Amino acid sequence: MNESQTVALTSLTAELLQQGIDVLTLGVGEPDFDTPEHIKQAGISAIQQERTKYTATDGLLDLRQSISTWLQQNYGADYRHDEIIITNGAKQAVAQAIFAVCDPGDEVIIPKPYWASYPEQVKLAGAVPVMLDASPGDLKISAASLKQAITNKTRLVLLNSPANPSGAVYRKDELEDFVEVAAQSGIYILADEVYDQILFDNNKFTSLSSFRKIKDQLLYVNGVSKSFAMTGWRIGFLAATGEIVQAVKKYQGHTTSNASTISQYAAIEAFKGEKSFLRDRKAAFQKRRDYVVDRLRAMPGITCIKPDGAFYAFPDVSAYYNHDVGISTSMQLCSYLLKNSNVAIVPGSAFGMDNHVRISYAASMHTLQRALDRIEIGLSILQKEY
Ligand code: PLP
Repeated sequence: MNESQTVALTSLTAELLQQGIDVLTLGVGEPDFDTPEHIKQAGISAIQQERTKYTATDGLLDLRQSISTWLQQNYGADYRHDEIIITNGAKQAVAQAIFAVCDPGDEVIIPKPYWASYPEQVKLAGAVPVMLDASPGDLKISAASLKQAITNKTRLVLLNSPANPSGAVYRKDELEDFVEVAAQSGIYILADEVYDQILFDNNKFTSLSSFRKIKDQLLYVNGVSKSFAMTGWRIGFLAATGEIVQAVKKYQGHTTSNASTISQYAAIEAFKGEKSFLRDRKAAFQKRRDYVVDRLRAMPGITCIKPDGAFYAFPDVSAYYNHDVGISTSMQLCSYLLKNSNVAIVPGSAFGMDNHVRISYAASMHTLQRALDRIEIGLSILQKEY
């Protein structure tokens, strides 16, 4: 496994902050909003009522039933409570789903750019990551390219929509084509939809869970981290066939056991409770997206697709690479921006695309304005040196 490529930058950021330097961090992958009050209260009352012991490995029945209803209401998806397992964050759900269906040597297709943990989790399972380049225009893969990448060793494709780091969202017609390819080839699809509630321009999200035709081949992952601003509560879930869920349950039973009981009670409230805050938060993210993308596109040489969801911009900054000044990788550019401009962003190499950087706009407009000013000045200094 590779160590996280951003560790060095994260520790330098911490060091600078400790020295009292005003570093603006746009690196983190979590909403800056608070966990909604009613959800917090559900957690607090779980503690007060002594709901603090183990639950079943696959989680509280009430939570699994709430998720079953939520999937049905949102996407017309049909998962019973015994086809759902509650995990310690969506990350554990993804890892365990890969472990459940992959044997050593199996190939797993990963569209590039990818969420940094995918290739490492695939390697941990002894399987082989096969990267599939997204098209530069929209940072998405096509069903035709997926079909071409499938070999007799392919077991699984990982589809993340809305995507981290690109913010790209697959439309219904594109998903229909993927579903056809899966149905014909028999491969599994892992649908990681943790950003499904953060979607812009009044677009309607189509979930892979709504395609009943491939239900037996679908490993559906979601959770409360991003949508409900609950990253630290560590609640995710996997919905899949009963057989896969049972396999995952055995594995989880001997490793972590159940996800935090208190967090599970809070998550019931997240799925069942009032959700009007989602609309306001989405509107705030959209405003920030528009601002960040407009600012980036106004900088000479930078190209940036307009993300349809999630809270990241993923611009191509390679126009600023130059061997003569020692900046020819995304890591070197991020390190320069951190040291000289005091802005922390993530190198695209962490997501398999070294010409890019990832900028999280899960920050206040004030912070974003200051950060973009600093990035603009930092890059213009570089430009003068060339
Ligand atoms: N999947 C994607 C695409 C993510 O970006 C993340 C978090 O960054 C996760 C899964 C993991 O979510 P969780 O914090 O619920 O484990």
